[in-house]
Formats: sequence, C-alpha cells, structure tokens
Amino acid sequence: MTPQNIIIKNGTVFDPVNRIDGEVMDIAVSNGKIVERVNESSAIVIDASGKVVLAGGVDIHSHIAGPKVNMGRILRPEDHYRNLKPKTAVKRSGVGTSCPSTFTTGYDYSEMGYTTVFEPANPPLKMLHVIDELNDTPMLDKACYPLFGNNWHVMEYLKDNRHDELAAYVAWMLKSVKGYAVKLVNPGGVENWKWGGETTPLDEPVKHFDVTPRQIIQGMCNAVKRLNLPHQMHIHANMLGTPGNYETALETLDSVRQIAGANDGKPVIHLTHVQFNIYGGTNWMNLSSGAEHLAKYINNHNHASIDIGQIVFSDTTTMTADGPFEFKLQGMTGARWINGDIEAETGCGIVPIHYKKSNYVHAIMWITGLEASLMIDDPWKVCMTTDHPNGGYFTTYPRVMAWLMSKKARQKLTNKVNKRARSKTALESLDREYTFSEVLISTRAGTARLLGLKNKGHLGVGADADIAIHDLDFRKIDPSTTPRKFRKAMQKAVYTIKDGEIVVKDGEVVKSVPGRIYWADAKVSDDLARTVETDLRQKFQDYYTVQMSNYIIAEKHIVNSTPVRVNAEV
Ligand SMILES: [Zn+2]
Repeated sequence: MTPQNIIIKNGTVFDPVNRIDGEVMDIAVSNGKIVERVNESSAIVIDASGKVVLAGGVDIHSHIAGPKVNMGRILRPEDHYRNLKPKTAVKRSGVGTSCPSTFTTGYDYSEMGYTTVFEPANPPLKMLHVIDELNDTPMLDKACYPLFGNNWHVMEYLKDNRHDELAAYVAWMLKSVKGYAVKLVNPGGVENWKWGGETTPLDEPVKHFDVTPRQIIQGMCNAVKRLNLPHQMHIHANMLGTPGNYETALETLDSVRQIAGANDGKPVIHLTHVQFNIYGGTNWMNLSSGAEHLAKYINNHNHASIDIGQIVFSDTTTMTADGPFEFKLQGMTGARWINGDIEAETGCGIVPIHYKKSNYVHAIMWITGLEASLMIDDPWKVCMTTDHPNGGYFTTYPRVMAWLMSKKARQKLTNKVNKRARSKTALESLDREYTFSEVLISTRAGTARLLGLKNKGHLGVGADADIAIHDLDFRKIDPSTTPRKFRKAMQKAVYTIKDGEIVVKDGEVVKSVPGRIYWADAKVSDDLARTVETDLRQKFQDYYTVQMSNYIIAEKHIVNSTPVRVNAEV
C-alpha cells in the first residue's frame, strides 16, 4: 500500500476538540496521519469549497457482530430482501437493514462518514465468532466489550471479597478473548432469571451466589478503575424496559459516585441506551418520560456519561444479553423470539419490533430519548446512538441528528405521534437546538474521548487521518429550518478518508480497507496473574464445556490486531 499525501483545500472545518468551529482552512494528510503540511506537488488535492470537513464518526455502541446479530439475521429473513446490495467492482454483495451482513455494515457506515464502530455486548465464550465477524467487517476500526455482569467467576470473587483477583480476572479475560472494555447487562438479573427468579433492582441477592447487583456494579467499577482501562465501565442497567425504572438508573449511577474520587475528572460509568432505562409511571398505561430526572442527575455530576438509544419509528430487531427482558417483550408483542444461555457467563434474546407513531408506549419512548438529549446540558456527556438495531438502524443517524438540530423537524413528527403521549410530555416546550459542533461532539469528539481514543474524533496534527467531507454549505442549508437538506447531506459523505486513504467518493465506497481491531492489555502483577490462572484452570474444569486453552484467542486470528497496553494498579 502506497501511503497517500492528501491536501483538503478550502473546506469549512469543524473540530470541537481543537476549538475550530466552521473555519475555512486546509487539512494535510501524510502516512495515514494528519500533519502540518505536505508538498502540494506530490499530493492528491481535494477541493472542499462549500463543504464541511470533519473527523470520521466514532460510534460508541452499535450491535454489528457476533452470535446475537447472527441469530437476528437467521430470525428475520424478510430483513434481508428489503435491502439487497449488489456486488460492485469494489464492494462485495450483501443484505440486511436491521441485521445487515458484515460487508454491508462496513460499507454503509463508511459511506455515512463513520470510521470507527465499537460492538458493545459479547459473550466471552463466543468471542471467536465476534472476532471473525469483525475481521470480516471492512472500512472500520472496531473493538468489542465482553459481558461480565452475570459471570459466575465475577460473582464468586466478589462473594469471597477477593477484589485483587477480580481485577486480575477481568484483565485476563480481556487479554484472552481480545475485548476492549467491560460491559454489564442487567447485572445479576439475568443469572437470577436463569434460576427461575426475577429481574430485580439493586439489592436482591442473586440466587446461589449471594451477591447483589449493587455489589457487582460497584465491584466491577472498581476493577475497571484499578486496571486503568481506556473506557469506563459500560452498563445496561437493571429493570430495562420497565415503567418507573428511572429510579433504578439513578441508583445505579449513584452507587459508583464515591469510586470516581479524584479520577482526573474522568467518568467511571457509562450508562448506555438510557432511553430504555428512564421511564416514569407505574404501568404501561401511565408510562411517562423520566428524562428530566436523569438530566438533572447528569447535569449535577461528572462521574457518568450516557448514550441515548434513540428510537426511530421503523420495523427493527431488538437484541440484548438481557434475556429476561426479551422474554417479557415476546410475551407482550407475540413476535418471533430467540432466547439463549451462555454457560457460566450470560444470556441473550432477540425479538423483532415495529415502533409505531400511533402507539402510546412507542411515542413515549421516542419522546424520552429526545428529551434526554436536549435536557442534558453538556454534549461531552451525551453520545448519540440508536443502540443499533434496538432503537433503529444506524443508517438513520442523520435523521436523529436533524431532530437534535431542528425544533421544526421534531415538531413535524410530534404532530403525528400518539396524542395522549404528546400531552403527557415536555418535548414540545423544549426550544434547544444542538449546534453542529454539539452534534459532532456527540457523534465523534466526545465518543472518542470517552473511549480513550486519543488519535480519533479530531483533526489535530498527529490524529489518525480518519476524515469525513460532507456536501453541507451552511450559507445555503440551515439545519434548523431545512432539516431535510441537512439530513441528506449527512447521509452520504462526499469523501471518507480512512487512515489517509480515500475510501468513499461521492457517497460510494471506492476502496475496501480492513480497519483495525483494538483490545485492552492491562498488565497486572505476575503473582496475581498466576493465582488467577490457577483458579481459572479449576473453574474451567468445573463449569465449562471447553478447555481453558481452547477459550483463549490467539492474536494471529485478528486482522490488524491493535492492543492498547495499560499498567494496572494491582
Ligand atoms: Zn445495546
């Protein structure tokens, strides 16, 4: 591969990290990085006059690979033929809308100007499948978050108060299965349900393990902090999809407030797809938005960040490690359903859903997500997601961006949603419209910062040359008054540049590149590592259907393996 020198000339640059807010300037690229300048005679020159130049999009939470995505593909054949993508000279063929195939996923993200996407929920035992699919997904840098919230070894270490060993086990796991961050899904609740119990708030002990969800959350948060992992604990809270659950969400955030301490002001918890976790009311008939409670908390505390999980009215597929939630959802909707059990680690479920404007609950959900986005003041704490595909497909992001930037766009849809939901919520009274820079913070600058990716999400010298150029001229397009034109411009990039190579031109992939896979390698003390390995040999004998040696994924399996090495405090 010959590294290209590129000069992007006269573009309107937006780069919130470097406080550049719509300045006409040139950006130079050499050897895959952004540089001060390059020799114009040896460079490809891109004329970006009248266009915006941005860092490539960075998605903090999107289900794009692994067994649950694959089961979604199997469960929903109709999702394939809605979107058939033929082979081109550059692209392989593909299918799928809510559960797209790997190639389609990579191409669609890239054509939308995204360059990094992290997959947020993976059973460690099935990680080889996840890695294989990520290897297969072109155009993007990727990583994944193994699931720890219902893991037997985690609960045993916690019960025995062996916190050093717990941290060392987390480090061993991430290194062994090539994970990047720690994910908890309904901590304790999935395991409790598997033994015939219920999903509960934070203080009911898990059957057979005698530890509570609160202990799991606090113990894992501490472990992540002591390991110095690049991303904080990423959590799907207990009681998801239940009326009145905003109280559990706030209790979850508050349970780790002390752990943050003087942690350089870095958040210690990322509460994901909050829209599903911040409802008021006591039943589905009086369901309401609890966004104002969450917003008040986030506005007053710095130890937590969130992503939204905005719903988009569409026919999509829900998929989560929260097996008990999917069990309930299929009971309510009567839709097709898969539930899975992953040995000593986690569960999962998949159920299709069609979000309808006329449906009271769905309208409340749509409003709740937007209210949370608009009521939280600091965009650095809020990541824009749809929890693809749970709230909607990632290809609908430009529509969500338009809702954030245009009261008119929101109102147009609000006029069509369930009237009772409208009357019970505050959305129509919210005048805030995100600035373009705020949208960029919540789709790249802020997400990259929360993920600990120093070279991404901005266009400063030394950053990865992951760049999106969109045909957006703010002299002609005002997102507030002409949201449809704004949306169209954000849907397809005029250019996407990945690691200094032009990979998309005029909204079409022109070159396929593999991208990297990041994973975290946290160094713990040798003694502790040995102790945990001895423990685990026995645990694998006792609990697993596979040998420990078969569980570990060799680095040679990974295309462009990119370990992020950190020194732990244990
Ligand atoms: Zn999710």
